[in-house]
Amino acid sequence: MNCTLCPVACGADRTKTCGVCGTSGITVAKAYLHPYEEPFLTPNKKAGAIFFGGCSLRCCFCQNYEVSRAMRGRKMTPQELAEVIRSLEGAGADCIDLVTCDHVAPLVAEALSLAAPHVPVVFNTGGYCTEEQLKVIAPYVDIWLPDVKFYSPELSQRYTGRRDYFEYASRALAFMAKTPIRREGEQLLAGVAVRHLVMPGCTSDSLMILDFLKEVLPPDAPLSLMRQYTPMGTSDYPELNRRVTAREYRRVVDYALALGFSRLFVQEKDSAETSYIPDWD
Ligand code: SF4
Repeated sequence: MNCTLCPVACGADRTKTCGVCGTSGITVAKAYLHPYEEPFLTPNKKAGAIFFGGCSLRCCFCQNYEVSRAMRGRKMTPQELAEVIRSLEGAGADCIDLVTCDHVAPLVAEALSLAAPHVPVVFNTGGYCTEEQLKVIAPYVDIWLPDVKFYSPELSQRYTGRRDYFEYASRALAFMAKTPIRREGEQLLAGVAVRHLVMPGCTSDSLMILDFLKEVLPPDAPLSLMRQYTPMGTSDYPELNRRVTAREYRRVVDYALALGFSRLFVQEKDSAETSYIPDWD
């Protein structure tokens, strides 16, 4: 069967080969209790994170390159993935944090139906999804956690290889925003929370994203403005071979505050360190 699951619609027959996303089925690169997710997800700093191999986007600045290109990881059936989910929950995970599983959403949905976790399930995604893709897994997801990376088609084409990134990400976010927000204390139990990575030289694009988010997000949805961009030595993109300056980051944070985002999460300067990137071994 020719796969058209994600916006790439590459048409690969995944019973025989990999698609553009780099996988035919589930590949898990790492599953562990991850301490660095936002506090509204992990009051005990224990996200039950599962990093999936493969990705439909080709971000030139990807910090999980070996994983997103599916160069590392173990192939799993939905039954085996269900066991991983159960063991993370048994180890005290605050949530099940599914990191980039969009391209295997039907198989992950099957695993979630078998594992039936009692902690919130987080769909942690780059945001480049079709509504059909989201509907497959929506019955098992409590929290949508999309990135919104770029507004401008020129920037998304240059840095992710997809000119239509915002077109799909904005529709996906409108779908996700329909889930009502539910929280217990400061912990988010259901709803949508958005991440935006501030990029060097791209703050004007960030401001346009904030204007859009103000329109579409529920007023009490968390918004995380990340300054952890780390240059990965991409020689084809010399403008990205530096960190975000304090002035750039401040400009974006100040604009978000002026727009009235009430649940805004910001990062310290030292978050732009490779030590925050999981060790894939
Ligand atoms: S999910 Fe993978 S195989 Fe399917 S359309 Fe997208 S890139 Fe191609």
